[in-house]
Amino acid sequence: EEERLNARTQASKAMYERAAQHLSGGVASSYQIRDPWPIYIERGEGAKIWDVDGNEMWDFHNGFGSMVQGHAHPAIGEAIAKRYPMGTHFGCPTDDDIVVADELAKRWGLPKWRYTNSGSEATMDAIRIARAATGRDTVMKIFGSYHGHHDTVMVSIGTSLGETGPRDNYNSLAYGGGIPQATVDMTIPVPFNDAEAMEKRIIALDKEGRKPACVIMEAAMMNLGVVLPEPGYLEAVREITKKHGVVLIFDEVKTGLCIAAGGATEKFGVKPDLVTLAKALGGGLPSGAIGGSEEIMKFVEDGTVYQVGTYNGNPLTMVAARASLEQVLTPEAYAHLTHLNDRIVKGCQAVVDKYDLAGYAVGIGSKGCVTFSTEKVVDYETYKANQDGELADLAWLYNLNRGIFMTPGREEEWTLSVVHTDEAIDRYITVFDEMAQELTA
Ligand code: PMP
Repeated sequence: EEERLNARTQASKAMYERAAQHLSGGVASSYQIRDPWPIYIERGEGAKIWDVDGNEMWDFHNGFGSMVQGHAHPAIGEAIAKRYPMGTHFGCPTDDDIVVADELAKRWGLPKWRYTNSGSEATMDAIRIARAATGRDTVMKIFGSYHGHHDTVMVSIGTSLGETGPRDNYNSLAYGGGIPQATVDMTIPVPFNDAEAMEKRIIALDKEGRKPACVIMEAAMMNLGVVLPEPGYLEAVREITKKHGVVLIFDEVKTGLCIAAGGATEKFGVKPDLVTLAKALGGGLPSGAIGGSEEIMKFVEDGTVYQVGTYNGNPLTMVAARASLEQVLTPEAYAHLTHLNDRIVKGCQAVVDKYDLAGYAVGIGSKGCVTFSTEKVVDYETYKANQDGELADLAWLYNLNRGIFMTPGREEEWTLSVVHTDEAIDRYITVFDEMAQELTA
């Protein structure tokens, strides 16, 4: 499959050779690196993209889950085109900021919002607000979760090097170089789907005089494939954090606007103190937001916390976000996404059953994956112990050679867009069936 892909991507190879001269690694972000060269994209329209070799692909990558609207959606395009001649940046609020905040407040049931330009900025600011609100430094996160690239959260992510340590006392592991040890030590990982372990660790930290300011987590993990919360888990986390006066942050950079109109908060019916959004919010432009209760966002309003950024509320982003919320991500769109995701999950599960593969299909909203694992993955430990990473890599290559574009990492998942069709879904299932047949022949 590797050779086949190389033969199909010779223009990407040539572009890589040119790019690598002055663009480090030939890419704009380390997550775009790929051996022997990255796939360079020329354009996207609707549910499809074309690479520089002219290969046409159904897009299940969707810009790491940002393009739930599909590429070049006409409603968003028109809104951007109308905005551009009126100026695109003032560093002052515009009407669209207000409309978007009103809509997010309605969807999340959280009254106060601010904007950022990325998910990383949103989680960085949310953590700062939590620290200011509590006067504490320690941050608790879930082992295996990714929350962006600032130092505090570049800790104990799936592929961090080092020993996880005992379950009730996980180690804090730096994810790559350049992260101060003092910062790493301030971030404490706990297992997903284990409220008891979380509470025990909060109590232990409290005894050491370093009770956490916050728990930052995804309500459904989106960086070990898709890992859903077990019944009662999120409710228990909400209760524990409230009881111990720890701020609960749902990082909805991936789940927000993708798994329901009001994200995981709506889907699971558990309300955090702070929510972070990004990716799908901007309709393809760089975006981010923080939503919170009156009680916690007052620390922003009274000037205790500087929640700032030159490009926050950029008019081009905000007009795209407004068009997306008002015209694209409608109740009908979510009904369509649910229909498509049911179809792809059922279809993939049927393939797993037919060929007796070790794995299962899982999905929620517009997101899902086939987890190649002998056991159900409920947290990082079960993922690491059981996931067949080589098969996951092969599936990526196999798909790409047959016109299915997926996120490259083993830990990623598919994101469907509102303009995906049954045809796209059925192609995905057919390709998966072919691979399974070849593997088991
Ligand atoms: N939080 C989560 C849950 C994410 O998945 C990501 C990005 N994959 C981020 C935060 C960071 O977002 P960004 O890349 O926009 O900084």
